[in-house]
Amino acid sequence: MKTLPHVLAALTAAVATALVSQTANAAVLPDYQTQSGWFTAGADAVAAKVAQVRNTAGAKNVILFVGDGMGVSTLTAARIYQGQAAGNTGEENRLSFETFPYSALAKTYSVNQQTPDSAPTMTAMITGVKTEDGMLSVSADSIRGNCLSSKGNELKTTLELAENLGKSTGIISTARLTHATPAATYAHSPERNWEADSDMTTEAINNGCHDIAYQMVMDAPGDGLEVALGGGRSYFLPNTVTDGEGSRGRRADGNDLTAKWSENFSNAAYVWNQEQFDAIDTANVDHLLGLFQGSHMQYEADRADDVGGEPSLAEMTSKAIDLLAKNDQGYFLMVEGGRIDHAHHAGNASRALQDTVALSDAVQAAMDKVDLSDTLIIVTADHSHTFTIAGYPARGNPILGLVHAPEDEAIAAAPTRAGDGMPYTTLGYANGPGAKNGARADLTAVDTTDVEFLQQAQVPMSSETHAAEDVAIYATGPGAYLFQGSVEQNVIFHVINQAAALGGTKY
Ligand SMILES: [Zn+2]
Repeated sequence: MKTLPHVLAALTAAVATALVSQTANAAVLPDYQTQSGWFTAGADAVAAKVAQVRNTAGAKNVILFVGDGMGVSTLTAARIYQGQAAGNTGEENRLSFETFPYSALAKTYSVNQQTPDSAPTMTAMITGVKTEDGMLSVSADSIRGNCLSSKGNELKTTLELAENLGKSTGIISTARLTHATPAATYAHSPERNWEADSDMTTEAINNGCHDIAYQMVMDAPGDGLEVALGGGRSYFLPNTVTDGEGSRGRRADGNDLTAKWSENFSNAAYVWNQEQFDAIDTANVDHLLGLFQGSHMQYEADRADDVGGEPSLAEMTSKAIDLLAKNDQGYFLMVEGGRIDHAHHAGNASRALQDTVALSDAVQAAMDKVDLSDTLIIVTADHSHTFTIAGYPARGNPILGLVHAPEDEAIAAAPTRAGDGMPYTTLGYANGPGAKNGARADLTAVDTTDVEFLQQAQVPMSSETHAAEDVAIYATGPGAYLFQGSVEQNVIFHVINQAAALGGTKY
């Protein structure tokens, strides 16, 4: 590879945070080496690690961020995307949580699938037990879609343990609050698709299983969730009702669960648009339900165009912390960037990266609010996607663009050609809707940075799939040091349980 221009090295060094001093050993290494921006930034990073002190105190509060489908390649591409949006080359940038002091890799397979879905992966994180695909916080002794088989196999969750200890609890997602990741925190269901009663089988209803939306409001643990903000309004409204944005309710049982929320809980409020959300004074509200879309909330790229107006993930996180922090006993909050996954399924890298940056912004909003001496923040993903960042674009090449090689100016003016004579993008998918049977399309005149562009893929499938490689875990605050090396995904439950003394087990 080419030597990087000095200007880029200097930029990289400037971006790295020099917290502790280090002294280069001039007797051993030449000056031009020890004075390199790369060298001093690396030395600073090690000096910071040497000075690091483990926080073994208890965690009063825990915030678990989950980027749905946010694999490692998504993090790399999103960090470059964010850096380039700020006018830099991009590679040197770091997402907010990439600065956290501790990290690990999590194995995401489920009991029955090499490549999992969000139901067993979130169940693993939130209960400490791996289960089968499609199941929410019930053990693998259940049969998927069979209510009776799940009876007696319900797994207690981190959120339930926190409620039982008198802590406040909250869930936030840009997906439906009844979707797999948020649902696994409060619901127990052998079928993730039982989001409203109209989605259930006769067997399930006859054997007394409750749909997921019903469980959130009517079967709530402790004194109920204090915060629930996200999408999925239709699943909480009767099918005789059309809501303020034109979506019809999906409930056949006649329950208006948004009304029940206000009846069941004290000082409760329900909001469904940005204006109402902004008007909430957290000092006067103890249980806040916000449902901003009939189904999933908008992608970050489209949020400004929403009919009723939707708060950002960072705005929801910030308001949630204000409300939850009123409890002296502390809180547990789960925040999901739920639509990174959906954009990837659509083969649409632009929206996936913008939603990843929105999650990074939400983590930053949390870091700006909490005291890291008593609050454990964890950022991870449930699973990855078949998303790749391929070779060999020049440093600073637009991450959504066609590959331009660094070799020389003449070549860099035109895109690099693949073996079939066609140009290609850096970002791609192993499968999905961006693939076609036969020859690849010629992208020469295509704006691959357009938000609607679908990256090319190898195997044609209507929906791109999850991938099975490990996902990253980043952590800061008390107990964060327990994340080290390669772990099973269910270890996340135990770290939270240990750090916050939830009482699930002693170590
Ligand atoms: Zn509560």
